Amino acid sequence: MALKRVYEAAPLNEDVGSKPSASVPPSQSILSESSSSPNAPPQDHNDGSLRQTKRMKRLLASDPAAAERMDYRRRLGLARRDDDIPTALQLFADVQARDIDIGSEGFNALIALLTTFERLEDADQVLTHMRRKHFSLTEATYVCIMRALALGGRQPEAAEDLLREMLAGGLRPRLRSYSPIIVGYAEQGKLENAFALYDKMLAQDIEPTETELVALLRGCSGEGGGNVEVDNFYRTLADLQDLVLEPGEGAWEAVAGWFEKRRERGDWAVGHDQAAKSGGRGKDRKAALPQTPSPEMSVRRGVVVDEAGVCSGCGTVLESIQLSSEAADELMTKVEELVLADRAREAEWARFKAWLRGPGGGGRAPEFDTVIDGANVGYFQMNYAQAPPHVNYEQISWVVEHFVGMGKKPLLVLHARHVDSRRVPPGYAALVQKWRERQLLLVVPYRNNDDWFWLFATVFKGGRTLLVTNDEMRDHHFQMLSQRTFLRWKERHQVHFSFGGYEKGGGRSVQIQVPAVYSKCIQGPGNGKAAGGREDENWHLPRAGDDKWLCVQVRRGGATHAQNDGGMTEKS
Ligand SMILES: [Zn+2]
Repeated sequence: MALKRVYEAAPLNEDVGSKPSASVPPSQSILSESSSSPNAPPQDHNDGSLRQTKRMKRLLASDPAAAERMDYRRRLGLARRDDDIPTALQLFADVQARDIDIGSEGFNALIALLTTFERLEDADQVLTHMRRKHFSLTEATYVCIMRALALGGRQPEAAEDLLREMLAGGLRPRLRSYSPIIVGYAEQGKLENAFALYDKMLAQDIEPTETELVALLRGCSGEGGGNVEVDNFYRTLADLQDLVLEPGEGAWEAVAGWFEKRRERGDWAVGHDQAAKSGGRGKDRKAALPQTPSPEMSVRRGVVVDEAGVCSGCGTVLESIQLSSEAADELMTKVEELVLADRAREAEWARFKAWLRGPGGGGRAPEFDTVIDGANVGYFQMNYAQAPPHVNYEQISWVVEHFVGMGKKPLLVLHARHVDSRRVPPGYAALVQKWRERQLLLVVPYRNNDDWFWLFATVFKGGRTLLVTNDEMRDHHFQMLSQRTFLRWKERHQVHFSFGGYEKGGGRSVQIQVPAVYSKCIQGPGNGKAAGGREDENWHLPRAGDDKWLCVQVRRGGATHAQNDGGMTEKS
């Protein structure tokens, strides 16, 4: 039998059947057109497949029923691993016929397998059996069914019924509980349902991702048979701008498609004021766009932005968007929380913060505008076979002097173990001493993570302070920061480096990549300067993975418009 794998391998493994969950009352079928044929007639399927392990033998002797249950669960697990639907269905037929208790876990696994291949009717039989026997469903299992129903079965309403049941049962919803239903509604042009559910999800403090946002944007173009929506389009675009730094091709097409559809229909004058007022995710977003009956509109895919930030399509100068001071404070607070999760670090952290305040604030930190992640520079390309165990002090020195040569004031952050006089190789002791004397060294105390110190120092300093590191900061501990804020901050401040050939003085040349003068993120009518000082409604969307942009230019009259600022960003 040729099986069509409809979804990527069960992403729900981790908790299918692993959590206790609400008990499901017996009720009617989840499917509107439910399965007709029952499964294969019962037969004894116990064909010697009990694995005769010692443990099993003991169990078989003492409790044959338990041994059989265990064997069924094991065989179901194998069937799931091998995507073996016929075997899984045969096992289920036995289970039903002989009323074998394979536990919630076993049934949840069965549903996960069946729904992965969109065997909705079979999954429904399992569900019906579970209800009859009062087995509980996990959130993950609900998700499996809701996803198959909403996306494969194109029955988002039935999926939403299940979601309601899940919530009524006290299970905590996650993004994946809402996502397939929102996408399912949007794809069918049922925008009212899609946005109603989207709002419910937001009310639960669940952040959408690009997947839901793109589906909603596409839905707003009237794809799937709905109306062309103006208000909802703008609020979703605002959310995309807020949450997604570099959108993918799908977002490009959704946005481009919507503007093209509007142009086709020529109904620009309608609804723009409304659109401008509708905030994203409950925020007070204002972009009071002037109305003109028939603006000129251009959609250009794949334009480039030059070093000065000028769009090759429409001439708009894109801007550098820094974190607002609130967002920066939030980022620092989070870093501090992570550091102080270990109370033993409290005193040292307090000393560091006092030091950081600099002369103006009673601290002793020197003036600095460039923070160097010393360990990252020192270990750069140092993983070859005979590499010394310590950081490469020369590399660090080259980078420090490179920035000094540029007229910058570097702050070199190094963990104590790299500068401890008992541990520094004799040949480099003088170099380290010089760094101390020149007051450009920040020594991170033992038992502390230097990452937090360079990160906090850079955010604290604010403005255009640079952070020199090739660390992409994707580690699990960076993941604990609000990615929305952190990635925007990183895009504006991180400097990458590499080394070139040896120079006369003996050191190697240093190449650096500083952030562009403009932010690589979605820029809307409130950002940048339109060419010729016009009050156009321009949208620029970068594309993840390359340097191409989508440029949408709606040429309007000369009236002024307010900022499109979600409180997230402020101009630098
Ligand atoms: Zn442009």
